[in-house]
Amino acid sequence: MRHLPLTLLAASLMLATGIASAASITTIPAAAVKTAEQLRNKAMHDDTGYRVVASLTTEVGPRMAGSDADPRARAWAIAKFKALGYDKVYTEAVTYPLWVRRSEHGAIVAPFPQSLVLTALGYSAGTPKGGLTAQVVKFDSLAALKAADPASVKGRIVYIGYRMQRHKDGHDYGMGSAVRTAGPVIAASKGAAGYLLRSAGTDANERIAHTGVTGFTDPAKAIPAAALSNPDADQLERVLAYGKPVVVKLDLDCGIVGEYTGANVIGEITGKKYPDQVVAIGGHLDSWDPGTGAIDDGAGVAIAMAAGKLIHDLPQRPDRTIRVIAFANEEMGLWGGKAYAEKHAADVGNFQLGTESDFGSGPVWRMSASVKPEARDAIGQIAKVLAPIGVAYDAKLPGGGGSDLSQMHGKGMAALSLTQDGTDYFDWHHTSNDTLDKIDPQQLAQNIAVYAAFSYMAAQADGDFGSAPGAFAKDGAGE
Ligand SMILES: [Zn+2]
Repeated sequence: MRHLPLTLLAASLMLATGIASAASITTIPAAAVKTAEQLRNKAMHDDTGYRVVASLTTEVGPRMAGSDADPRARAWAIAKFKALGYDKVYTEAVTYPLWVRRSEHGAIVAPFPQSLVLTALGYSAGTPKGGLTAQVVKFDSLAALKAADPASVKGRIVYIGYRMQRHKDGHDYGMGSAVRTAGPVIAASKGAAGYLLRSAGTDANERIAHTGVTGFTDPAKAIPAAALSNPDADQLERVLAYGKPVVVKLDLDCGIVGEYTGANVIGEITGKKYPDQVVAIGGHLDSWDPGTGAIDDGAGVAIAMAAGKLIHDLPQRPDRTIRVIAFANEEMGLWGGKAYAEKHAADVGNFQLGTESDFGSGPVWRMSASVKPEARDAIGQIAKVLAPIGVAYDAKLPGGGGSDLSQMHGKGMAALSLTQDGTDYFDWHHTSNDTLDKIDPQQLAQNIAVYAAFSYMAAQADGDFGSAPGAFAKDGAGE
């Protein structure tokens, strides 16, 4: 009751200035929209991002989490942020199990002996000295394995031949990656000796296997697990079709060898009005080992770094801070993203808006958002600036924040999804073919235009987008 007079005063002031009903509606000032359009146009003809991803993939190359290249990748990121003129550059430690790959071989022993092209999966156990030799039992789907009698699986090498389909939004990776992550865990729980899958990749004719992580969280329960190239999966299926017992030998020298502490590397363009309020963008710094991690995720790191650099080059600093995060060890289970969300959960209300780029360098074609209703108009303003470069706004879909930043979204950060064209992405994903030549500089520039324009508008907005602890649980974000 003591506060009533003040409240009344505030109400009458708002009425007097005509903002009473609009007080909670978030808007982006016209001047900021204009600057965002200029940023967008400039980014479309700027090669900073391409030079960044070329630098990372050439000077560091493959950079599996915890490998010898891990500290070199971090040093590269720190130096690159500084060279681009970021105001503040720092790291935050991330600790995770260290998995190593030394060598991998596979072969059909009987009835038609011949070698197989395969690659071990993250957190796979190694095979015993001399290899693992066992009969193969085939399942057509993850559901069929789930339903299987353990007696049919015990002591065998389980094989699942799920064939991933090509889609613009890459949605079949949902099932493709489930066969890779959940499949080995289910097989192990039924007593299988080993696990093989048809690679979660859409390149039907390339004799190249796609690696990726499994769901083995307890090394004591892990079994040897590997992915066959698509043609090798075809070959194994033809051999199985003869109806004779098929024996395969796996020789995988890999496994968890301890714990490793790496770091998220973070660069900031410091906001001049609200330095503690941040727009969070980023990519992940680690990659799988066979390729040079150009599309996964050198592109994402470059898109975010270059977007921040364009904002840095404006005559004035933005109102809020632009924070670019190069996450540690996304590939083996979002370790960097989870550590980040754990550390910053209590501060989620200061995260204005965020999203991470982790789907290659194909152009962004769709935007969706998880924001408070009062910020929908501001998202509409962002959409209007992005429409001329091919981005359609879908107001019905939520925004997930991308891979690592999905964890901050889970804590209540307002988030966008900037969906890229991933038609070709799973041809090369997690293979030796993930190299710089797969990146089209003009498509990469379009991504940077999107990130620079949206980040700047979010940083300049009058009002917020609804970030608060647990804010988006209704979208399925968080636990
Ligand atoms: Zn990735």
